[in-house]
Amino acid sequence: MGRIYLSVPHMGASEERYVRDAFASNWLSSVGPHLDAFEQAFAKRVGRPAVALASGTAAIHLGLRLLGVGPGDEVLVSDLTFVASVNPIRYLGATPVFVDSDPGTWMMSPELLAEALEDRAARGRLVRAVVVVHLYGQCADLEPILQTCRRHGVPVLEDAAEALGATYRGRPAGSFGDVAAFSFNGNKIVTTTGGGMLVASRPGWVEKARYWATQAREPGAAYQHVEMGHNYRLSNVLAAIGRGQLEVLDERVQQRRAVAARYREAFEELSGLTPMPEAAYGLHTHWLSCFLVDEDELGASRDDVLAALAADDIEARPLWKPMHLQPLYASCERYGGEVAADLFERGLCLPSSSSLPIADQRRIVEIVRRVGRRRAVAARGDAMPAAVVA
Ligand SMILES: *Cc1c(COP(=O)(O)O)cnc(C)c1O
Repeated sequence: MGRIYLSVPHMGASEERYVRDAFASNWLSSVGPHLDAFEQAFAKRVGRPAVALASGTAAIHLGLRLLGVGPGDEVLVSDLTFVASVNPIRYLGATPVFVDSDPGTWMMSPELLAEALEDRAARGRLVRAVVVVHLYGQCADLEPILQTCRRHGVPVLEDAAEALGATYRGRPAGSFGDVAAFSFNGNKIVTTTGGGMLVASRPGWVEKARYWATQAREPGAAYQHVEMGHNYRLSNVLAAIGRGQLEVLDERVQQRRAVAARYREAFEELSGLTPMPEAAYGLHTHWLSCFLVDEDELGASRDDVLAALAADDIEARPLWKPMHLQPLYASCERYGGEVAADLFERGLCLPSSSSLPIADQRRIVEIVRRVGRRRAVAARGDAMPAAVVA
């Protein structure tokens, strides 16, 4: 039996044709018709102008730059996230300050964010931006977060790298913040092998980001530079893949949701394994199927489950390790307690590919069930002699 991965690329019918077209046209670099078409299709999907970039991290970097983040600034950011939400804050010479999760959504707590913004203001600190991260295919509770940020006059970057296709109160993830970043890394819900997209509430911002992303070269034949730029543009070949992937996005969302539903159903009678909460405010794509393990209830720890799956060549993972627990960011200030840390201790992501065969999923379910049962049997075994003596 082959290895089962956490999340693998899943191509549709058109990607290869578009790539072949890119080769035939010889538009193989950072300019070309597929780039334009990919950006246009994406902008239509999210409802905001878009610029295609080399990665989601690049999109966060340029997004923060658009918001004016620079040396000496502070940026409030979700504690429970992938490190790429935070590194670009440092690229710009600013300081991240972490906000703990709400146990009901796993994402940034609106109450703690309000507390943080008030406290920073009281201490005369300049919070230049808030990075709110949408985790595992679901939006954070945006309404109270945006309200608080508006009250304080602080702009918002949505890190929607994991949330393409998700909605909040009927609108797409990424259409709420001043800017938003998406990722097409190989493990995301759709992929360009690697890539990202930045969307902005103002068309001029997207133009500015496109200029920065192409080394900030001034118009004209001479290599004239006024501002510092980056080499962050996506190639026309990869945009061709992205076009095809966007065509099957809704199908991929349905397939990931079906994977999650099958897990939920299979684990229903298994106490001690709780799925990630699904909020009533929007569509959860279930990019990854995540669960919390209650060791006493399940009769096995999170790490027991991970070990059993690994022994069978199945890739499963803990949730993101909170940023305040990273040696890289250990000295940063934070608001909240141990919600993110507890989620990290007890949470796991199971294989969630949209192409995951049902037989493979059965194999995963069987192993998880067996781990729980094994401990229960062992515990009963230990209790037997005492019962006999009595
Ligand atoms: C994947 C991811 C990113 C980074 O995207 P890349 O395209 O890999 O640079 C940023 N934030 C979060 C939350 C992610 O999951």
